[in-house]
Amino acid sequence: MEITFDCTQCGRCCHDLRLTLSVAEARVWAGRGHRVDLLAEGWPWPEADNADGDPDDPASQWRMATSFPVSIGDVPFRVNLRLVARHVGACPHLLPDMRCGNYEARPRICRIYPLESRPFEAMVPAHRLCPPEAWGQSLPVLERDGVPADAEAAAILAAHRAAMVADVPVKERLVRVIGWAETAMAGEGLAVREIAPNALIAALDAAERGAGGAAQPWGIVTNRETTRAMLADLECPVWLVAAEEGFLSAFGDES
Ligand code: SF4
Ligand code: SF4
Repeated sequence: MEITFDCTQCGRCCHDLRLTLSVAEARVWAGRGHRVDLLAEGWPWPEADNADGDPDDPASQWRMATSFPVSIGDVPFRVNLRLVARHVGACPHLLPDMRCGNYEARPRICRIYPLESRPFEAMVPAHRLCPPEAWGQSLPVLERDGVPADAEAAAILAAHRAAMVADVPVKERLVRVIGWAETAMAGEGLAVREIAPNALIAALDAAERGAGGAAQPWGIVTNRETTRAMLADLECPVWLVAAEEGFLSAFGDES
């Protein structure tokens, strides 16, 4: 199956950003004075049950490769930490004519859009911001049988995915350096830690030097009373919060 595409340069993907960055890209973004938030989601991951992830489930394998283990109460979890450039409205690099003012140094996630960055998900044009005319049948082939048609795009996508795996040890130390130990339940939302650009760079410096500090007791934030009660029954530290800056919810608040 072929998906055809040509960018119309409408600029929609450069607005209301949520760009997942590698550690190196986060350094560059923060170095330009722009905020990079930390977003965390976690999965209960019983050690005796698929400790290495389900070999027949690509999503399970990807989660395993891009997460680190923590204990929440006595329950083993795996936490995926993302470094995310979030920005309401136009990207600070977007020029008035919708060209990128950061073209040479733009993150990989910008270079591969609208390709799917996660290896276990198919790319769905209807889920992308690109207008209908960007998907005309006479346009160049973007993807063939789930594989990017362009070798350079395929290499950038592979590098992005490799960085998501290679960065895990630094991210595991980063949360210890800044003393943050909160996650949301995957599928419910994302715990958010805002951090000033200079503070993030300093913390990444420390984490990359191997600093990590003492392990913190982890807890879960949720805006759903049913989740809070279920986790409390398991004696997991859990906090009921409203969906706001510190918690991006996939659902409305439930009390
Ligand atoms: S860095 Fe460039 S391509 Fe990426 S969102 Fe900003 S303006 Fe768009
Ligand atoms: S939303 Fe799609 S068509 Fe519009 S600028 Fe971004 S990649 Fe191009």
